Amino acid sequence: MKGCKFCEDDIRKKGVVYEDKLCYVVPSGYPRAFGHLLVISKKHFSDMASMDKKTLLGCFYVAHRLLPKMKKALKARGIYVIVDSEGAEEIYHFHIHLIPNYKEVHRKRFAYLSYKKISDADRSSVIKLLKMN
Ligand SMILES: [Zn+2]
Repeated sequence: MKGCKFCEDDIRKKGVVYEDKLCYVVPSGYPRAFGHLLVISKKHFSDMASMDKKTLLGCFYVAHRLLPKMKKALKARGIYVIVDSEGAEEIYHFHIHLIPNYKEVHRKRFAYLSYKKISDADRSSVIKLLKMN
């Protein structure tokens, strides 16, 4: 899709946590917390409502598989699973945010944390910690 960052830039070049026929998982470029992942559909869907069932279920199944792994590897209290609806996102291409909830983040509420571009070292650590087959 023209003008779509996920379609036009192959953000998989910097490494993936997981990839299959329907979706791929990468560390967020602007993490709200260490370990913040994005599950992104390979096909362009501007929102969840427009998705086909197979892709929708495939993306959520991958998220479901990652949750226990993230919790354990990142020593998180839990994981926020967030799908922003139209108006709340900057990129209108379906993706699921998986954001670790650490103790200090929980108290502050992650929405108030500042966005900072991910470092190459953090990206590599996240991929190494959460890599899944
Ligand atoms: Zn797209």
